[in-house]
Amino acid sequence: MNGIRDLRSYTYDEISKIANEAGAKPYVARQIFGWLHDKKTDDISSMTNVSKSVREFLAKEYPIRPVKRSSVLISQIDGTRKYIHSLYDGNIIETVMLPYDFGNSACISSQAGCRMGCAFCASTIDGLARNLTAGEMAAQIYSLEEDAGERINHVVIMGSGEPFDNYDELDRFIRIITDERGANLSGRNITVSTCGIVPKIREFANRKYALTLALSLHAVTDEKRKKIMPIAARYPLSEVLDACRYYFDATGRRITLEYSLISGFNDSDEDMKGLASIARDLSAHVNLIPVNPIKERNFAPTSPKDAILLKNKLEKNNINVTIRREMGRDISGACGQLRRSFSDYEVYGDRNA
Ligand code: SAH
Repeated sequence: MNGIRDLRSYTYDEISKIANEAGAKPYVARQIFGWLHDKKTDDISSMTNVSKSVREFLAKEYPIRPVKRSSVLISQIDGTRKYIHSLYDGNIIETVMLPYDFGNSACISSQAGCRMGCAFCASTIDGLARNLTAGEMAAQIYSLEEDAGERINHVVIMGSGEPFDNYDELDRFIRIITDERGANLSGRNITVSTCGIVPKIREFANRKYALTLALSLHAVTDEKRKKIMPIAARYPLSEVLDACRYYFDATGRRITLEYSLISGFNDSDEDMKGLASIARDLSAHVNLIPVNPIKERNFAPTSPKDAILLKNKLEKNNINVTIRREMGRDISGACGQLRRSFSDYEVYGDRNA
């Protein structure tokens, strides 16, 4: 763990041990886990069928770290909602709820800030504040459900942070959120997105969760990738792609390649040839995302018209490709626009939840 005790961060087996430590009978573990991840309470005192002494023990030794909605911004364009959540220690994170035809999807953060330094991304500009606990990851989903009064059935770990830079908590989060005694989310509806931390991709593959791994590729040569993603200097593309192949072989789940289109930088015919070849070798799905502008940088997106031409080219090469429908741009809720400071929001006039 990252040193923060948070009752919502424990797997079912760990809750069983904690219940035992509290002097409770074994069946109480199921009740506690159910309160946390099925009924989704963040108040230990509301666990009415758990004895008072056990509740007192939990509150003292294993508190719940609240994730409080500070405000929500609602996109006038597409109904995307961006939530600003405050954590127990004053840190702030963002979570985005995307209403799709197939149901509600949550884009959750895995860290407060990020230390990966990708040139086009706002989340990394102020660096990393800290890792989130598994409970804080789960609680972002529960908070959205409570506010919207609807279930979330898809989760993408594409908010701020690099999930594989917070590997242990990510792993717990997956185990907790897919547990049928709790939130019971289907692994098939979860996507973990990484900038390409090779040893962690392999470790994660060995867990054999049936979920989708997305790789933030963004350039098809090491030379170009290094210009926008510092992590590329640490792990060469050949190793990253080998690890993705290993993931595919171990889990049978197709990789998604995320490719942010930056005008004049990575959208030439040569780039597309490279992208088609990588996607073919991995049997991967390609997701093109015209880069979203952030105020500190002047990366320009490939035009929508050109993006469609590129998509068609890739499709002619039998590559499975989608252009990501950008949602929530007017509330800075789109990819790469999430931050951890409040000052950027004032212009929009928050609605306090
Ligand atoms: N750290 C993880 C997950 C967070 S980012 C990762 O790197 O994958 C989620 C996706 O948004 C990544 O593919 C990221 O590269 C992309 N992204 C970041 N900034 C962006 C921007 N300004 N425009 C479009 N996509 C961006």
